Amino acid sequence: MDALLRLPEATILTDPDALAPFQRDESHVVGPAPLAVVRPHGPAALRELVRLARAEGFGLVPRGAGTGKAGGCVPTQRTVVVDLSAWPGMIQVSPQDLSLTAPVSALLRDVKATAGEAGLFYPPDPNSWESCALGGTLATNAGGPNACKYGMTRHWVLGLDALLADGEIHRFGIPSVKANTGPSLAQLLVGSEGIFGLIVGATLRLTPQPREYATLLLPVKRWMDLLDLPGRLSAAGFLPSAFEFFDPAVLAELRAHGPDEARRLPGEALAILEFDERGCTSDDFLESLADLLGPVADGLEIASDSRQRNAIWAVRRMTSAFLKERHPKKVSEDIVVPRSRLREFFERLERSGIPSVSYGHLGDGNLHVNLLAAGDTPHDELEAQLMTLFRLAIELGGTLSGEHGIGLAKREAFLALTDPGHIAALRAMKRALDPDGIFNPGKVI
Ligand SMILES: Cc1cc2nc3c(=O)[nH]c(=O)nc-3n(C[C@H](O)[C@H](O)[C@H](O)COP(=O)(O)OP(=O)(O)OC[C@H]3O[C@@H](n4cnc5c(N)ncnc54)[C@H](O)[C@@H]3O)c2cc1C
Repeated sequence: MDALLRLPEATILTDPDALAPFQRDESHVVGPAPLAVVRPHGPAALRELVRLARAEGFGLVPRGAGTGKAGGCVPTQRTVVVDLSAWPGMIQVSPQDLSLTAPVSALLRDVKATAGEAGLFYPPDPNSWESCALGGTLATNAGGPNACKYGMTRHWVLGLDALLADGEIHRFGIPSVKANTGPSLAQLLVGSEGIFGLIVGATLRLTPQPREYATLLLPVKRWMDLLDLPGRLSAAGFLPSAFEFFDPAVLAELRAHGPDEARRLPGEALAILEFDERGCTSDDFLESLADLLGPVADGLEIASDSRQRNAIWAVRRMTSAFLKERHPKKVSEDIVVPRSRLREFFERLERSGIPSVSYGHLGDGNLHVNLLAAGDTPHDELEAQLMTLFRLAIELGGTLSGEHGIGLAKREAFLALTDPGHIAALRAMKRALDPDGIFNPGKVI
């Protein structure tokens, strides 16, 4: 380990107090203390780290801002955490190429703000966007409320710079949406959770900044009616840029203990809908929308300025932290159910007897099902409940993670419930790209 202390272009932490915060992320998973935390400042550090990892048999665990919810950046045995928060580089926009380049250390909020200053828009918007690093969003293929219109992070990645097992940084992709030179290695790295290499920079696709927003707070009379609404909106030609929901139990928690905005809300359940296309604030648009929503609504509020819009979104953005504060040992899942099966899913979830509350992204069927009593549930019982939940999502044509990824938290379930051919192909790729198994060992596969 002495060689680690002599690493060029890097800051090294070895003090036990300094290492402790790196044993966890925002999931319930806690790992062992890493051998060290290395903060590289240049390519020489990475080259030497790869050489040492191979020579001394330790693993490299990439870390962005540690806001992940799957234990992906949590250390496993004999690993060094590679904290990329000091990786050098500037955020630069090219309006001509409709693209932006940034180092992975950039915070997502700064990436979005820099695009905005040029009148352009980088859509990916995980609810942690103020605190997560670009690198973490790339490695987890983060999504957020607007994925129902704009897709996930991967849909906005044109190219990546990444460290591979040879110790060198390679560039994949070009600053254009057109590039058809065989399978895309940039896309293979997006969502790979650090198991194939370390991403150090990215070239991202931009689009013109929306100029109008219609943001609606929609309390509904009957919860089950809300579940048909995504399909009814599309059938009527509406494409929301966000469609979030709170089930009756989450709404009740917010109403009883949440912020003032939430306490006054009527209805059995609640949705937030947003539209951002040109003309969405016109009377014509809003009237035809109100005609469609009227029969299910228990009062409908439309934000008329950015202050009201922010107040509506504040309720959504604080929900995860609010529930965690009230139920510190809760487990939060992020399954996906096709929109056409939402009603069936919630009916069967209720019949399954799993004590849970849900909120999340109704517009794309990505549901945050929360087991609030997880901390007081015996381990085997909790595992059985989670497997029942995952099986139900998969049986209905969905999957066990929509945005948080697999990491350590869902590895066992992923291995048990996924087509063996899929796992075998991923393992073959891992052997080919990382023959000594140095990148994020023990994660995903
Ligand atoms: C309140 C809250 C709300 C959230 N809402 C959302 C949401 O709406 N949508 C969503 O998708 N997620 C959400 N998340 C989860 C999390 O914020 C995102 O997954 C985010 O993208 C993680 O970024 P990070 O920089 O914190 O990554 P980390 O937690 O540091 O790392 C995440 C994973 O990426 C790997 N990794 C990190 N950097 C690199 C790199 N440079 N190269 C290779 N691998 C790397 C790590 O090893 C790990 O596997 C939320 C989290 C919180 C706490």
